[in-house]
Amino acid sequence: MTDSSIELLDGMPVALGGPRGMEVTRTLPSKQRRMVGAWCFLDAYGPHDLSRSAGMRVGPHPHIGLQTVSWLVQGEILHRDSLGSRQEIRPGQLNLMTAGRGISHSEETPSEHSAVLQGVQLWVALPGSDRDMAPAFTHHDDLPVLTEPGMTATVLMGDLAGARSPARCHTPLTGAEITLAAGTAARLPLQPGYEYAVLVLDGTVTVADVPAGPGLLVYLGDGRSSLSLTAGPASRVMLLGGEPFEEQLVMWWNFVARDHEEIVAAREDWETAGRFGQVRGYDGPPIPAPPMPITRLVPRGRVR
Ligand code: MN
Repeated sequence: MTDSSIELLDGMPVALGGPRGMEVTRTLPSKQRRMVGAWCFLDAYGPHDLSRSAGMRVGPHPHIGLQTVSWLVQGEILHRDSLGSRQEIRPGQLNLMTAGRGISHSEETPSEHSAVLQGVQLWVALPGSDRDMAPAFTHHDDLPVLTEPGMTATVLMGDLAGARSPARCHTPLTGAEITLAAGTAARLPLQPGYEYAVLVLDGTVTVADVPAGPGLLVYLGDGRSSLSLTAGPASRVMLLGGEPFEEQLVMWWNFVARDHEEIVAAREDWETAGRFGQVRGYDGPPIPAPPMPITRLVPRGRVR
């Protein structure tokens, strides 16, 4: 029997940081749906063989109104930001950057690195009450891990099954990486007031009753108190969820705002080295803002 509340959202290939950039698969925002809880942007990348590719090389660029969640499955990434942070991240660790009213950062494959890079870069929209906060950066390498036979779940953001990440969230949220041994059938408790989606990174997993592979986001809606995941081969997914985000947003380039004027002001400040400070130590130029579209940017809700 097919569950009619489930939507399958197909990822789009995007070159990160410009036409010669590393390819990522973007599942949010999608044509049908812009958000899952406060999660508003999902990129997955790799596995990339770094003997054949330069890996990640994203020069200094600005953000407002969001948190960036960097999570790796394989390899390393070096983060630098305008607060002076310089932090390498490895699998099982979280780099969480809260842009608030404005920050700039770079992300790159470090010169000493593993053979393969694989991970996700996710954004969480900040609610109106917190979006003008001072920028912050935190690194977490001691996150709660839930284990069941054949299953390991690491809670990086918010809460899952009574385990809570120490990372600071601004809306009720879940973000967890779940690995399943081949053939494992797991059942996870969910919060009925949250909407959820499952992003498959490796293997094949039947989510509720829908089989899915890498590059697909399985949107589950809200109102569920549990979720079944059944692995074919050894598999890995991200479980993402949260209270439906009811504020309307304007998302343009690296900015999450509430109206057109706010985007224009942020773009202007980046072009004139205003509020976003400077990233020191990155070997390359900052990324220029694209031109504004000819039409006015319109705030939109979480569903198209
Ligand atoms: Mn960024």
